[in-house]
Amino acid sequence: MRTRARLALGLAALASALLAACAKPPLASAPKAERDAIAARIGQDIATLASDEFGGRKPGTRGGERTVDYLTQRFEEVGLTSGTNDPGNPWRAPVALTSVRFDSGRIEFMIEDRIIALTDEEALAGTTRQRELIAEGEMIFVGNEAESVPVESVMGKVVVMLADRSLNPERRILLESKQAIAVLLVTDDAAIVRGIREDSSRDRIALASELEDVFFSIVTHDAMARAFGAQRWSDLVLSAQKEGFSPIDLAAKANIEASSVRRDFTSFNIVGRLAGTRPDAKAVLLMAHWDHLGLCAPAGAADRICNGANDNASGVAVMLELAQRLADKGPFERDIYVVATTAEEAGLLGAQAFVANPPLPLTSLVAAFNFDTVALAEAGAPVGFVGEGRTPLDPIIFETLLAAERALGNRDYAESFLRRQDAWVLLQKGVPAVMLSSARGSEITAGPYFESDYHSPSDEVDTIRLGGAIDDLLLHEELVKRLAVPALPAP
Ligand SMILES: [Zn+2]
Repeated sequence: MRTRARLALGLAALASALLAACAKPPLASAPKAERDAIAARIGQDIATLASDEFGGRKPGTRGGERTVDYLTQRFEEVGLTSGTNDPGNPWRAPVALTSVRFDSGRIEFMIEDRIIALTDEEALAGTTRQRELIAEGEMIFVGNEAESVPVESVMGKVVVMLADRSLNPERRILLESKQAIAVLLVTDDAAIVRGIREDSSRDRIALASELEDVFFSIVTHDAMARAFGAQRWSDLVLSAQKEGFSPIDLAAKANIEASSVRRDFTSFNIVGRLAGTRPDAKAVLLMAHWDHLGLCAPAGAADRICNGANDNASGVAVMLELAQRLADKGPFERDIYVVATTAEEAGLLGAQAFVANPPLPLTSLVAAFNFDTVALAEAGAPVGFVGEGRTPLDPIIFETLLAAERALGNRDYAESFLRRQDAWVLLQKGVPAVMLSSARGSEITAGPYFESDYHSPSDEVDTIRLGGAIDDLLLHEELVKRLAVPALPAP
């Protein structure tokens, strides 16, 4: 009995050993030595891009220029050709940007023969234009009204309006369209004034073509009470709640002054291409943003540079490695475009410039894959699918996940990143654009990074986990191969 049992056990072990020897490894996997080599190459690109020499890769800075130079060189090295389809601008598709920083603002009231200067804690005026000056503008109080206010009563005046909770600019814009020269918003919260001041002291970058002229001023209820008298001001606020309220002349004038520092500059999306064998066969797009936040901590901090090792040196490095592998394994029937976008951090601006002026018709793109902050999970982690259910790519993605033995991550968690990444801009233009990443698989994996190191000087190389990123790289390689269709060998 014992001998028999032992024999049976021995046979079972032999059978399973034989089976294991025959079983094919799952698709989109690689032996350890190859994974190590991939990790070394990706790690090298991340270390370079996230080094202090690159200064946090902010567009419009020396570090930003250095990044563009480095990536142009790397795009060539991995075997791409320029994909701008613009002979005047090889590799680099120019993106015209404007940076604006609110510089100073001052509000004072003239009531009877008194001049009341408001303090920085009480009031704030800001503009995106170089300078805005309103001298002795007559003040009119409209309470909460905007739509019902007749043009004649606000035209050429400084309009005092009560703020709603959301600080929605709609009513301000409506009153400006009725030719109010300024709209002074009254809030009951000094913290709002402080918050806007803090927020607006930072450089803001916009597409030069999209920058709107904004002029806003905000003041606290306490300041209004100090200037107009507590009783009079509270009577005015009360009257605004009554039915049949109509605008009230405040018999006062306002001086409002604001200025900003504006700078126009050019940054670049870097565009490469692996030419397909069938020019009419449409294309697949890979994208990752190269920019980050530059100096992001106040002067005097021990480390001021946001190096953005994960966000997004990691995505760029993985994309470069993928481009290299595809270049080695091609050709494919379809073109493969590879784009490193600029100014993502300022609001997906490089991606917007790309869709506004694409190197190929957007309808030619059968799929776009974004890589953003990708190195947070260990090998074997589930895949977050950002953009699931929004493109015709679902079936091929699920098939490939299955073949690669990759589990799908938490759907709600992945979905929460949808609008925070470049693929969203393409998706809105009808391009099937998704992001597949183990770094969006679950809050347990990614949460600690997004709660602490994200957008901070501590997003350094030690936050990098390459296991999951390499799984994802191999998964994308398989997906792109399936979508770009391997070319038949020449007869
Ligand atoms: Zn970011």
